[in-house]
Amino acid sequence: MCVSLVLFTRDLRVHDNPALRAAVDEADRVIPLFVVDSRIVAGGYPGGNRAAFLARCLADLDAGLRERGGRLVTRTGDPVRRVRSLVDEYGIRDVHVADDVSGHAQRRLRRLRAELDESGARVHAHTESTTAIAPARLSPSGRKDHFAVFTPYLRRWQETPLRPVLAPPERVRLPGHLSPGDLPAPEAFSSAEVTAEAVDGGEQAAREALTVWADGPVEDYAESHDDLPGDRTSHLSPHLHLGTLSAIEVAHRVGSRTPGAREFTRQLAWRDFHHQVLAARPACAYEDYRPHGDRWRDIPAELHAWQEGRTGFPIVDAGMRQLLREGWMHNRARLITASFLTKTLYLDWRAGARHFLRYLLDGDLANNQMNWQWVAGTGTDSRPNRVLNPLRQAERYDPDGAYVRRHLPELAEITGPEVHRPWTLSDRVRSGLDYPEPMVDLADARERFLAARG
Ligand SMILES: Cc1cc2nc3c(=O)[nH]c(=O)nc-3n(C[C@H](O)[C@H](O)[C@H](O)COP(=O)(O)OP(=O)(O)OC[C@H]3O[C@@H](n4cnc5c(N)ncnc54)[C@H](O)[C@@H]3O)c2cc1C
Repeated sequence: MCVSLVLFTRDLRVHDNPALRAAVDEADRVIPLFVVDSRIVAGGYPGGNRAAFLARCLADLDAGLRERGGRLVTRTGDPVRRVRSLVDEYGIRDVHVADDVSGHAQRRLRRLRAELDESGARVHAHTESTTAIAPARLSPSGRKDHFAVFTPYLRRWQETPLRPVLAPPERVRLPGHLSPGDLPAPEAFSSAEVTAEAVDGGEQAAREALTVWADGPVEDYAESHDDLPGDRTSHLSPHLHLGTLSAIEVAHRVGSRTPGAREFTRQLAWRDFHHQVLAARPACAYEDYRPHGDRWRDIPAELHAWQEGRTGFPIVDAGMRQLLREGWMHNRARLITASFLTKTLYLDWRAGARHFLRYLLDGDLANNQMNWQWVAGTGTDSRPNRVLNPLRQAERYDPDGAYVRRHLPELAEITGPEVHRPWTLSDRVRSGLDYPEPMVDLADARERFLAARG
């Protein structure tokens, strides 16, 4: 009997999964393994929302494997040691895993290779599983190991053919006498509170969401993706983060025939772009990609006001309250709130990124940290000192104020765009509002930032 093992990390699907496909094709028995990594848990897995989402995805992966005669095998501890003990017990020759970009993932793969080398098993790290195009497949000219600018990256990305979508395996057969272990509950990852109102993860939900999106709304994406109150983007990011959808399948499914499809696919290239930056510079999850000698202010009261959505700028506060309540924020609101923290308040992007990871359902190291750095001007933005004016952003992207009214109940009675400037309302109206005065003068704050950047 030939047994192979597939280690699931964050590609929690049976469709278009190169590691699972290869394991099933080469052996007559397969161990589909997920390990609750105690180091990640002990280090404070960020976020109750993500933990709940992950647990839901694992349950659904188990259901997908059961439909094919298998089930998900779970263990807790050090993934490398857990794999090693199964390899030894079942005489496994081949272990399959999706290649990934974070420092933790890269170290895990190196350790896995070193450990299994001793037992004579091979480790196959499958690229183009977490990203549409593997970081190493697109290399810039010269001696650079990654693209630091998006436009040339996009050009190369668009010229590169995507691999075809892989069919899911028909049957997954486990070896006999294998104790599968229990499916982890959210608390196995985090004891933090779950605040998201709807946590519906898993491959089945993801595939349904993709069908709905690709069969209609994507057509309007080019015009509607910045419609803040309409919130008319795909909402596929949590599924892409935990790999219940493969980016390749999403790209194939949406195609590039219409302007909407092309603009949407461009966002998938942004995702790959940030992943290739982190793959080459894993330390940039926590260190400036392009340092400017920033001496960030450290004012906890200001950070708390921002986190709680009490800055006195309704467009900022609406975004932050949506994050707390839904575990979600529209991209435009992420840009506005992140710019406010890093440039208007001149507080460290790391504090903002940590808060986002704690609450976002789609919290993703590559996308979150590299977007935070982009906004903070320490990342890949070619105009690092641009400052978004929250009032102008509000007028442009939430012209009637509907987004603000939806997320700030204390301002829900104020009609029209005046809701963006409550300080201009009459004293009588203002005295009845439980809403703070603006915490900074925008012009002064802008000057402070530009002076700090020299
Ligand atoms: C400060 C900040 C933090 C962010 N944190 C995250 C995060 O933790 N996880 C995350 O997935 N995205 C993050 N983004 C990127 C972006 O906001 C979200 O991917 C997007 O809002 C998710 O909504 P959607 O799925 O409807 O996106 P759509 O507009 O429908 O886009 C489709 C997909 O493309 C990818 N994508 C879109 N925009 C970007 C982008 N700017 N960078 C990289 N990929 C992108 C996502 O995977 C997304 O699901 C962040 C952006 C900012 C400015």
